[in-house]
Amino acid sequence: MAKIHMSVPIVEMDGDEMTRILWKSIKDELILPFVDLNTEYYDLGLPERERTKDAVTTAAGNAIRKYGVGVKCATITPNAQRVEEYKLTEMWKSPNGTIRTILDGTVFRTPILLPSVHPTVRTWKKPITVARHAYGDVYKNTEFRIPGKGKAELLFTGEDGTEMRKTIYDFECPGVLQGTFNKDTSIRSFAHACFKFALATKQDLWFSTKDTISKTYDHTFKDIFAELYENEYKTAFEKAGITYFYTLIDDAVARVIRSEGGFIWACKNYDGDVMSDMISTAFGSLAMMTSVLVSPDGCYEYEAAHGTVTRHYYRYLQGEETSTNPIATIFAWTGALRKRGELDGNAGLSAFADKLEAACFATMNGGTVTKDLALLMDGSPRAVNTNAFLAAIRENLEE
Ligand code: NAP
Ligand code: MG
Repeated sequence: MAKIHMSVPIVEMDGDEMTRILWKSIKDELILPFVDLNTEYYDLGLPERERTKDAVTTAAGNAIRKYGVGVKCATITPNAQRVEEYKLTEMWKSPNGTIRTILDGTVFRTPILLPSVHPTVRTWKKPITVARHAYGDVYKNTEFRIPGKGKAELLFTGEDGTEMRKTIYDFECPGVLQGTFNKDTSIRSFAHACFKFALATKQDLWFSTKDTISKTYDHTFKDIFAELYENEYKTAFEKAGITYFYTLIDDAVARVIRSEGGFIWACKNYDGDVMSDMISTAFGSLAMMTSVLVSPDGCYEYEAAHGTVTRHYYRYLQGEETSTNPIATIFAWTGALRKRGELDGNAGLSAFADKLEAACFATMNGGTVTKDLALLMDGSPRAVNTNAFLAAIRENLEE
């Protein structure tokens, strides 16, 4: 059988620990035998980030801008312990954060469902995708403790020296103070990414903030979404038979729990951080969650939502066979291959991505799974190690 040809490369970003081992096995077993794989390779493993003083991460981000599609393996975000372990000269920043800043993207996370794994919420029948605005708010705050009595003010000085000033609070005792910001340009990018993703996946879009309490800050988010919808997306949404729906964050939470799923929930940065963890846990497992970063100018970066699975890696180093779930990483690859196929008019490549996903579902629904899933599934699934699981998927793929 002739291998599928690719004219434009995918930006391939290798990573760390157990997921780096999975990365190679997935390529060897499930992709290279079938696709004449064309990638521009960047090694984002911690040793290479150290060697290049993290320049490799920026280069990878810029390459995604150039080619439009990237696939990323999980990477270590260094902390004090990692600095020691890897003898780092600096506590390099999170590669995901660096790439997000280059692409100005929005992160969409979607659970992968199986009929025999039941969500904790009984009414959920279809996946719920959380779209998180990954810029500003409390993640770029300025804060300090107030030592005692005194007046806290909010002050803005314009370029021409004009001042805007408001009293926040007249402190009569010690307390805390925090300043946060966001930018119209970033909120607009977020809104565009959400509307485009809804159209691309033909799902309703929900958006929620606390605009009744935050009448300027949160209300600006609501207004920008409303304006863009009216002016740029309404017609396309109506044509696609999908809706845009705005509601207060607390009302949204209640509705999400009562829903059947099957929509995109756009959230401000903090809401998205918290709610995506709740949604993924309630659907089953982080190992069954896809994640894609979409930039406003149409670049896509696919990854797994989980980390480098350190505990399994240490067992692997001791020569043990591990049962690490490769599904989210396989789906990162299929996401990237399918998108490349769509962008290049390469139907064969997109069809291969579909077939590989179908082979994964056939394997899992047939009862052959990794340990983490065996614990969640109905019936009596057969828990196997990673290599046996990949071999079973390959068998289904070749059929
Ligand atoms: P993690 O790698 O997601 O693993 C946490 C635990 O979840 C594992 O110990 C394992 O539980 C379970 N798990 C996660 N993925 C699994 C899979 N594919 N198959 C089976 N079980 C899975 O999170 P972490 O241990 O907090 O972080 C490890 C490293 O990853 C850190 O250095 C962190 O910086 C990095 N990280 C990277 C990303 C990213 O690049 N996107 C995201 C998050 C974290 P059991 O051990 O109980 O089996
Ligand atoms: Mg979180």
